Amino acid sequence: MSSSTSSSPQESVRRQNLGALLRYIHVRGATSRAELTSRLGLNRSTIGALTADLATAGLVDEGVPHETGRAGRPSIVVRPRSSRVYGYALSLELDRLRAARVGLGGKVLDGRTAQRPPGPDPAPTIAALAALVADMQRTAPADAVLVGSGLAVSGSVRHHLGWADDTLEPELAGALQPRLGQSAGPFLGGIADLAALAEHTRGAATGADNVIYLHGDAGISAGIIAGGRRITGFGGHGGEVGHMVVNPGGRLCGCGSRGCWETEIGERALLHLAGRAIATPGAAMTAAMHAAQDGDELARDAVLHAADWLGFGVANLVNIFNPTVVVFGGTLRELFLTGADQVRHRLYTMALPACREHVALHTPQLGDDAPLVGAAELAFESLLSDPLYAAKP
Ligand SMILES: [Zn+2]
Repeated sequence: MSSSTSSSPQESVRRQNLGALLRYIHVRGATSRAELTSRLGLNRSTIGALTADLATAGLVDEGVPHETGRAGRPSIVVRPRSSRVYGYALSLELDRLRAARVGLGGKVLDGRTAQRPPGPDPAPTIAALAALVADMQRTAPADAVLVGSGLAVSGSVRHHLGWADDTLEPELAGALQPRLGQSAGPFLGGIADLAALAEHTRGAATGADNVIYLHGDAGISAGIIAGGRRITGFGGHGGEVGHMVVNPGGRLCGCGSRGCWETEIGERALLHLAGRAIATPGAAMTAAMHAAQDGDELARDAVLHAADWLGFGVANLVNIFNPTVVVFGGTLRELFLTGADQVRHRLYTMALPACREHVALHTPQLGDDAPLVGAAELAFESLLSDPLYAAKP
């Protein structure tokens, strides 16, 4: 491979086309050359040359399709080399750590979960994440190529433990780089932000360019995609919708303000209203939802109250961002499923018709894995932007 960093117009068009082609195969899986020709708007000989370049770089392979019942010569199929080209996806949540080795094309090849070490010191958590990666690396094939890593960080970890990205990122990079090399990241993103990316790329919001993903755990955060782009703000801290003030006379929030959205719909608020202890965060929430469904009146009132506030905030967000899809993830999934009528009622009475008419409300198609899948998308980003450059060993 030429070490081409030249920027002649032809070369930059070629790089763009290589990226577009590899991205298409990464997202859609095995694709015929005929489909690539029509979808990418390039002629057959260009597609042939581009796929040959990607095959030489070890990123795709080509072959005849599995089903050959039709008459005529079948179009060659281009497949991502998922077992050879991979990234690490990591997720740092309030109560657990997750790590996966994910192949090009989004195929999960290996995975690990561990409890997050307790306490306010980030060092044991960083060491534990690095250990999960090291454990998976021992079983990765010797000829496999690592192209990057991504980390989804829960906003609750950031706020409740006071861990700042500008210490977390370099410390984690320092722990991982002896094993992974310089270019491997990790690249950080918020948990809702990366879940939005995942659902947008290969889940409930595929094909939608205006998406809001709401994630609930101890706090509430949003991943916002507008015009097909992630909105993360100047320092990556955009989407902190949990601290949008919805009830100025409400309870004091951990952030110092009063009546923030998460003081009305957060797990802590809901369990408090339902008269339940916060023993194991996620499990207690699910138990409260089930109790509400089974007719426990206190639990039911708490859920309906919280669902009403959920709809209140969603209606405001729908008016501001005019999304076509809103996805409810984490603890908000259960809250939405139980109190969907309340959410829809608020949306109907508060959101402008032009904004609410086109919005679909969904739960995550990727389930709990959405943040991890999104972290993998971050891991592949530099490869997909410039395949031949990034794939060099
Ligand atoms: Zn707050």
